[in-house]
Amino acid sequence: MKAWQFKVLRRLADGEFHSGEALARALGMSRASIWLAVRELGAAGLEVYKVRGRGYRLAQPLSLLDREAVLRQLGDDAAHFSIEVLDSANSTNTHAMQRAQQDVPGALVIAAEWQEAGRGRMGRTWHAGIGGALTFSLVWRFTQGMGFLSGLSLAVGVALMRVLRALGIAEAGLKWPNDVVWRGGKLAGILIEMQGDMLGPSTAVIGIGVNVRLSDTVRGRIDQAAADLETACNQPLDRNQLLALLLRELRQVLEVFAREGLAPFRDEWQRYHAHQDKIVTLILPDARQERGWARGVAEDGALLIETETGIRRYHSGEISLRPITPVMRNG
Ligand code: ATP
Repeated sequence: MKAWQFKVLRRLADGEFHSGEALARALGMSRASIWLAVRELGAAGLEVYKVRGRGYRLAQPLSLLDREAVLRQLGDDAAHFSIEVLDSANSTNTHAMQRAQQDVPGALVIAAEWQEAGRGRMGRTWHAGIGGALTFSLVWRFTQGMGFLSGLSLAVGVALMRVLRALGIAEAGLKWPNDVVWRGGKLAGILIEMQGDMLGPSTAVIGIGVNVRLSDTVRGRIDQAAADLETACNQPLDRNQLLALLLRELRQVLEVFAREGLAPFRDEWQRYHAHQDKIVTLILPDARQERGWARGVAEDGALLIETETGIRRYHSGEISLRPITPVMRNG
């Protein structure tokens, strides 16, 4: 998505009809460029209606990510963050990893309306549609070394869950090590990357992708069950407000984590654990599978699995957990 395509999106965001001719005139573009931009918006997950004689219209009005709106929502807490909202980024984590080298006042937040190449763990892809997702990265500095951060993605999961509970989403849960699920579908993902020294200090780039409203186009690209917030809480959500809520909660959790690690969050994580005391399959790096009872997490974030030979600890690395009971699809 290019800057000129975003200009068209901003005009269409009100959900009203705009003729191709009026858009072309207002933006100083050709009608063919407007048509191309609309086609790209469709490919990016937006539903755009075209009606002969009236022009183009979004299926529903769209409130775009807006730095000022996030700052307003944060109120006094805004002073703790340095927020940048981009139309488009390669991936907010990649961008934030580069920016993390620079000194900025407060914790740096990079949010993007569109990611060219959103990422999951182990080179996997994170899909997000324009206007229907919240994708951002938060850069957080720790005096400790990278080893101290092993349970960080679990603490971040707790922060996400607190916000979802506050929104009234009772059925959301956590899947080790980095997902938030709702009725068996993935609602949000966490991707943490680190810079620094084993002995400290270190920097974590905490990437978060939340499905706010999944369009059919985006849903069709995801090769596993997915869920979205608006379905889960049965109401439209303002993404700027959501970002502010998440940042406020993340700050509280990260400040405690920086002092005490995962320990203060461990019980809470287990209460949210979608597979606690259920039988699961683990896919190991060499593709072997192991089965056992999920017994929660250790204080360093390791997953505890009870097998016939006793409790085993698994560190996040390249291990994937899969439920073996049938999951309920959302909808
Ligand atoms: P693991 O259990 O190992 O974390 P995972 O499949 O959850 O496995 P992640 O790296 O956490 O892998 O997330 C990337 C995966 O999530 C993609 O391969 C895809 O299957 C799925 N995915 C991508 N985009 C979305 C989305 N917007 N909503 C839900 N799921 C998505």
